[in-house]
Amino acid sequence: LGRNKNEQCWVRYEQHKSENVKKRFELAGELQTAIDNDDLELFHQPQINLKTGVVQGSELLLRWNHSDLGYVSPERIIDIAEETGTIHHLTEWVITQGLSQHAKLYRLGFEHTISINLSSKDLTDNGLIAHILTTVAEYVIPPKTIVFELTESATTNDPEMAKSVITELHQQGYKIAIDDFGTGYSNLDYLSQLPFDMLKIDRSFMNLAMSKRNNMITEMTIALGRRLGVSVVAEGVETHEVAEILNNFYCPVAQGYLYAKPMAFIDYMRWLQKKPKQHE
Ligand code: C2E
Ligand code: MG
Ligand code: MG
Ligand code: MG
Repeated sequence: LGRNKNEQCWVRYEQHKSENVKKRFELAGELQTAIDNDDLELFHQPQINLKTGVVQGSELLLRWNHSDLGYVSPERIIDIAEETGTIHHLTEWVITQGLSQHAKLYRLGFEHTISINLSSKDLTDNGLIAHILTTVAEYVIPPKTIVFELTESATTNDPEMAKSVITELHQQGYKIAIDDFGTGYSNLDYLSQLPFDMLKIDRSFMNLAMSKRNNMITEMTIALGRRLGVSVVAEGVETHEVAEILNNFYCPVAQGYLYAKPMAFIDYMRWLQKKPKQHE
């Protein structure tokens, strides 16, 4: 009887697994269609200069409101896109849409930066740089206003190829940010060989009011950034108390729900219009 039960369980597990694969396969197809039909959306989350309170840029965050499933998280989208090879197409879409919005803001007088997240798979795409250069030329935007955010793990997949793509982008004048700093593979040796302009402290460290340890790690990361001559962005700032601590550490930039949640482009433009501009 016991064996039978096990077999039943196994059959059920196999069915469950194959359903999962089928679902992922379906979702991948729908993602492809969503890209083609512009059914995806890019939300903006502002980044705030802690000293002046001024908005200095925004990060683009992918959103997909699926007709049946509702909200699909960007992690899930990226995961499926990477697995099925849709990622190059998806990232090109993000770059094209994101830079068109960036150009619109620029023309309105918001000379901010725009931050674009790149997946590890993007750094092994031979066409990535060409797509960036063509799109930037089309919209006539200064490369120094465009930041590419890489997670530490993303840069370790194929270190040599990733390094050459990052170095090339940096040489062309684009800014490079190390996303989720302090998590994943904290390969400081690799980071020491990589050009970058910004460290983003992962939001898991932002319980600064409660954790003495994370307090010290954050302070140390900000000091590291200062010594390296790169900017530091604290991610996931939710309370005034945390912002105050960051300010005491001379953290240059913060991003988080305290200032604003990620917003649809139209809402972000309205939100910006109520804020003081950078050069005022
Ligand atoms: P990330 O790049 O580290 O983005 C920060 C995440 O923290 C975002 O989650 C943002 O909504 C969230 N966040 C910001 N402030 C707060 C806060 O105060 N509290 C809390 N609890 N969360 C906050 P989101 O939008 O779900 O994105 C998750 C991840 O998905 C991103 O992490 C990024 O790695 C990836 N992602 C998003 N859009 C793209 C994209 O266009 N391309 C790629 N390759 N990855 C993307
Ligand atoms: Mg990011
Ligand atoms: Mg991050
Ligand atoms: Mg993250």
